[in-house]
Amino acid sequence: MEQAPDASRSPLLAGLTLRCPNCSKGKLFKGYLKLADGCAACGEGFSALEQGDGPAVFVTLIVGFVVVGLALTVEVAYMPPLWVHAALWPPLILGGSLGLLPPLKGLLIGAHFRHRKGEVERG
Ligand SMILES: [Zn+2]
Repeated sequence: MEQAPDASRSPLLAGLTLRCPNCSKGKLFKGYLKLADGCAACGEGFSALEQGDGPAVFVTLIVGFVVVGLALTVEVAYMPPLWVHAALWPPLILGGSLGLLPPLKGLLIGAHFRHRKGEVERG
């Protein structure tokens, strides 16, 4: 049931939208972050594409950079009481981290898939 990859589809975009990097149709995850065994649409196996903790590192760096920048900006501009910081940033950190993790993991899987395919094609 293997299909030839369509060159017009980007594995990076497919991963970012949580779709199979090979066909852009099947779902990449079977849970929040649990990688599916394979694509239901084209049969591509995902077991070799597991990213471990890689996506979490990037999410931590991105969310940390944004939240620290915003917190410093708000502090310098408005000098609010401490409770305002305590109320503002934890939800943003939690929401940003949980919201970014699946698409970023998908993006890294798409990049891994694309470069692995390139290595196979070059021999
Ligand atoms: Zn597929």
